[in-house]
Amino acid sequence: MKKHALVIGGGPAGLMAAETMAQRGLRVTIAEAKPTFGRKFLMAGKSGLNLTKDEAIDRFLSNYDGPQLAQILQAFGPQQVMDWANALGGEVFVGSSGRVFPKVMKASPLLRAWLSRLDGLEVVRNVNWRWMRNDNLTAIVDTPDGVRNIAADVIVMAMGGASWSRLGADGKWTQAIDASVLVPFAPSNSAVSFAWSSHMDKFMGHPVKSISMSSGGMTSQGEIVLSKKGIEGGGIYSLSCGIRETGEVTFDLLPDWDRAKVTAALSRPMGRNSLSNHLRKTLHLSPVKLALLREIVGDLPRDPKELAHVIKTAKLSGVALRPMDEAISTVGGIAWDALDDTLMLKRHQGVFCAGEMMDWDAPTGGYLLTACLSTGAWAGSAAADWALK
Ligand SMILES: Cc1cc2nc3c(=O)[nH]c(=O)nc-3n(C[C@H](O)[C@H](O)[C@H](O)COP(=O)(O)OP(=O)(O)OC[C@H]3O[C@@H](n4cnc5c(N)ncnc54)[C@H](O)[C@@H]3O)c2cc1C
Repeated sequence: MKKHALVIGGGPAGLMAAETMAQRGLRVTIAEAKPTFGRKFLMAGKSGLNLTKDEAIDRFLSNYDGPQLAQILQAFGPQQVMDWANALGGEVFVGSSGRVFPKVMKASPLLRAWLSRLDGLEVVRNVNWRWMRNDNLTAIVDTPDGVRNIAADVIVMAMGGASWSRLGADGKWTQAIDASVLVPFAPSNSAVSFAWSSHMDKFMGHPVKSISMSSGGMTSQGEIVLSKKGIEGGGIYSLSCGIRETGEVTFDLLPDWDRAKVTAALSRPMGRNSLSNHLRKTLHLSPVKLALLREIVGDLPRDPKELAHVIKTAKLSGVALRPMDEAISTVGGIAWDALDDTLMLKRHQGVFCAGEMMDWDAPTGGYLLTACLSTGAWAGSAAADWALK
């Protein structure tokens, strides 16, 4: 008789745990609360599914905040993610920045192939099954046929974080977990709110390229997009932690020029040019960058040195993270010190955790999905060891 593994949550972390355990010969059942699997994974594919980042492992690992992740990601990292996606027929390519996408860009063909691989491994996939709590190794699950007790030899929980709740990750599972093992959820990879003046109206939706920004000791370089609600885009997302603490972002509008070079350029005679034209001609400052500078600084200083200073350190105050449900990801969830090296809950033998429901942080750009797949594989493998020992 095969050992029975129960996986709670049918996102990337749960599906990877299920695949790993089924390949090890366990009889696997998945309980997914929503009517379909992988809803957030599909959403991630809407603007191009960035599966991982192809870069040197040290650099890759430096993007993560989570004590045990280095060991886990070394076992299953970018190369394994690419191999896994390629084997599913979702042939990947590496973009110029090292970001890895399936050639079709979307998540749906990959998810379809993955679910059919799980079917081939005889994984029993249940939807509209909402986990309520565990009683040792029996899960109490609300199903369309009523509340059921599902006994298992091992359980992997992968119920996600607490953003985009309509896709399933509503964080409600925390209500059935001992509060002492939880870190409160907070938004990460979040857009920010800012009340722009009407001068900025015509720049809404405009990207601001080649800009660097910092907040609370964190720095980031990348594109941002100005929106009616504030600022969106990869560049700002990775500063979530600093913005949460300070409510400020400092922009360097010309990160490739040092201050001396900016000062020298601005020191050229202005002639009859307006200051805007002078900035455009000497620094090639785009209209959106100039508007952002004026919005932040107000009247611009005429002195080249002072002007160079504000261009390199334009501080926008009064910014706040958007509500958590809008964030790309969350930090918080199961605390690392509640888990052992195998991702098993120390106080609940045989119950393992994976994915965003654990307290780790990383920027967008493939790092999130890689850690979800990686912890899913790690927890699944350890859970199989546990059940088969
Ligand atoms: C708009 C958007 C774009 C993104 N783009 C990228 C990207 O390009 N690259 C990247 O790396 N990451 C991206 N991400 C992040 C990535 O999608 C998530 O980090 C990842 O899906 C988390 O995987 P998970 O399996 O841990 O959780 P989830 O994907 O959230 O899955 C958890 C599952 O558990 C289920 N569940 C919850 N509670 C219960 C319960 N009580 N009983 C049973 N089931 C339950 C949920 O319904 C859900 O299906 C993006 C996210 C968003 C929102």
